[in-house]
Amino acid sequence: MGFRTKQVHEGVTPDPTTGAILTPIHQSTTFVQESVDTYMGKGYSYSRAGNPTVRAFEQKLTALEGGVDTTAYGSGMAATVAVFLALLEAGDHIVVADVVYGGTYRFADQFLSKLGVDVTFVDASETEAVANATKDNTKLVFTESPANPTLKVTDIAAVSEICKANGVIHVTDNTFLTPYFQRPFELGVDVIVHSTTKFLDGHNATLGGAVVVNNKELQEKIAFARISAGLVMSPMVAWLTLQGTKTLSVRMDAQSANAMAVAEFLQTHSKVDYVNYPGLANHPQHDLSSKQASGYGAMVCFEVKGGVETGKRLMDNIELWTLAENLGSVESLITHPVTMTHAAVPRDERIAAGITDGLVRLSVGLEDAEDLIAALDAALGHA
Ligand SMILES: *Cc1c(COP(=O)(O)O)cnc(C)c1O
Repeated sequence: MGFRTKQVHEGVTPDPTTGAILTPIHQSTTFVQESVDTYMGKGYSYSRAGNPTVRAFEQKLTALEGGVDTTAYGSGMAATVAVFLALLEAGDHIVVADVVYGGTYRFADQFLSKLGVDVTFVDASETEAVANATKDNTKLVFTESPANPTLKVTDIAAVSEICKANGVIHVTDNTFLTPYFQRPFELGVDVIVHSTTKFLDGHNATLGGAVVVNNKELQEKIAFARISAGLVMSPMVAWLTLQGTKTLSVRMDAQSANAMAVAEFLQTHSKVDYVNYPGLANHPQHDLSSKQASGYGAMVCFEVKGGVETGKRLMDNIELWTLAENLGSVESLITHPVTMTHAAVPRDERIAAGITDGLVRLSVGLEDAEDLIAALDAALGHA
């Protein structure tokens, strides 16, 4: 069955007792056992270990990514942390892409070292750099493509090959493109991380995360980390995310088309230094993006001339676009990474990673493209 059919139907079966078409919200901590001998006979004991509503979402996402199984979490960061806890131990080394979600950077930088794990940040878009950073004790390579917030693209298949050759697990964060546009397992990835907060929910309603794997052994280890650390998704969040995911393809297509229109407009604007959108023919990794993904997504970034002050003025003057962190929802959002999402990254590292003072990140929503463009044009006029 095709992606659109799966996104609507997978994981969802009408409730056998009432016929309710939607999976019920099983808002229950515990599940009654019929006898000691049939303990876990219906598959559930306590909601930290598993919950039927959460399971329905996990099954849907497994089908969409073409994986073997999924665990769902209270946030995208909880998902990433579960992978680290499950697969790393003191004395291990990991390679992390230098441009990743700010929270991923912060956890790798400030917490993995506490646990005795050695971290090397590299420009993963340079495949050679990943190979060079790999050592005997390297356990895991963590990539994100296109990366937040500069939209740098990593050659996922090439990094997977390096990982395979060295017996290293390749984990990638597929939040920005979702399985609708990018299918990491087909590119050789072992573990896929999601912040379901973003496009999977799509409505700015929930915080959630997921880890999809392509073998049972990884699932067991990661599910064990989740139950041990209590990083689980709640039934209400799973239910809302289930509904959001049913329209994923339609939203991705429309938001991506809007993003292309906005990127093309910005490219011609005199107050804009440059635009980064993998869909533009002049993006340095346009060909790679076209090869490894079937769409370019809803994230656009651009450098406004005049640095931090101009960036701030743009944020404060813009109409229609909401000044907010988060991304992937139906509402268009605008962010200034330097003063907001990436304020925790030291300036020299930030500049080296392309997160410059005037960088503006857009998450393009479902509004009319003409309205979005008119609002940007007006605000750039004031900046
Ligand atoms: C938001 C985000 C995360 C973290 O997810 P939360 O749900 O906010 O914890 C991780 N990776 C990417 C690419 C994100 O955009």
